[in-house]
Amino acid sequence: MDPLPADDAQPTTLVGGLPAATVVLKPKRARPFFGRHPWVLDSAIGRVDGEPAAGDVVDLATHEGRFVGRGLFNPHSRLRVRLYAFDPAVPLDDALWRSRLESAVALRHRLSLDKPAGAARLVNSEGDDLSGLVVDRYGEWLCVQVTALAMAARLESLCEILASLVPTRGILLRGAERGLAGLEGLHLPDRVVRGRAPDGPVFVEEGGLRYGIDLTEGQKTGFYLDQRDNRTAAARHAGGRRVLDMFCYSGGFGLSAAAAGAQAVLAVDSSARATALATANAQLNGLSTMTVETADAFEHLATLAGSAARYGMVVLDPPKFARSRATVADALRAYHRINRLAVDLLEPGGTLVTCSCSGAVGREEFLTMLSGVAQQARRTIQLLEVRGAAADHPVSASCLDGEYLTCVIARVP
Ligand code: SAH
Repeated sequence: MDPLPADDAQPTTLVGGLPAATVVLKPKRARPFFGRHPWVLDSAIGRVDGEPAAGDVVDLATHEGRFVGRGLFNPHSRLRVRLYAFDPAVPLDDALWRSRLESAVALRHRLSLDKPAGAARLVNSEGDDLSGLVVDRYGEWLCVQVTALAMAARLESLCEILASLVPTRGILLRGAERGLAGLEGLHLPDRVVRGRAPDGPVFVEEGGLRYGIDLTEGQKTGFYLDQRDNRTAAARHAGGRRVLDMFCYSGGFGLSAAAAGAQAVLAVDSSARATALATANAQLNGLSTMTVETADAFEHLATLAGSAARYGMVVLDPPKFARSRATVADALRAYHRINRLAVDLLEPGGTLVTCSCSGAVGREEFLTMLSGVAQQARRTIQLLEVRGAAADHPVSASCLDGEYLTCVIARVP
């Protein structure tokens, strides 16, 4: 599918709330949607009754005409309809968006993730019944990512509602990750939607540490919030040890280990911008036990494994190796390679913290990869914890596609 130029991605009509048309499924294609899965691909659609414009509200019906759900239409995307309600009495209007956003904000409040100095994911797309909308809060600043045309069409009113629910100085729209956004043909330039942009880095607190976050330049939305609890869990194993934090980005795992009393921490990332952030964060927290290097992880792990260096804990938090099912085999080979090297670097009884953020790689497959590593390294790998993303990244049971992060904490005797 060809991506659309930006102008074409603008909707032609706005916000009615009630359906402009009915999208009729092919026979035998309704089951996932009765199961509340929100993504209706064009391949499941038999015909469209009416002429809905991009962003319009449509009803989804079985081929026999039975109501299934209500969603928003995007003629330019393979993901033709995103469903937001499964009750014919519910219009997709501002009252609905407000109640969804209120519910999302209430969850973070329940999790005590609403401290003004902290950071949290406020809205996690399908996990908060708001398919295509991600909102991260960094102190008093919100970063919004939109992967659905329908959400882009409603951006102003969504941000107005957000601003009424959480105190903010500015709401920034950040370029969405590729993938889903590409699927939607969306090319949204970064911009300030409300208020203003921060003048410099924004400082937030997490797990007793301070981080400077560059909201206008950083990767993703500036900080990897999904690993918050995994950093704390991993740090419990760090005391007194030499720790290697591979793929460190702004240093979260390494800094948590250093703060937990690691003897020394080496944090490595191939991006000079990332290592500059990690260095600045180590200084900000006065953690002189952490050193930072800019290097390729594959090469650096191999160099270290060939040297006498050994560690009590190794953290591997690589970028997404598999973007789709088609590349899973290659990704698993890459995971195997770095994990094998990490195991070779571990002292007896050392801790391996190994992550995958490739949604396409299932958790079982990742664990099976580790069993292959154990076999080849001739070491036992004791799984202590198999963790996912933090609770401010909820996943809908109806849309397990939202589950992407695995973080294994293992002991290697
Ligand atoms: N552990 C980090 C997040 C890591 S994100 C945290 O807790 O915040 C993945 C990181 O891997 C990115 O910073 C990216 O720059 C880095 N990276 C990608 N390819 C790499 C490679 N070949 N070698 C080293 N780092 C790499």
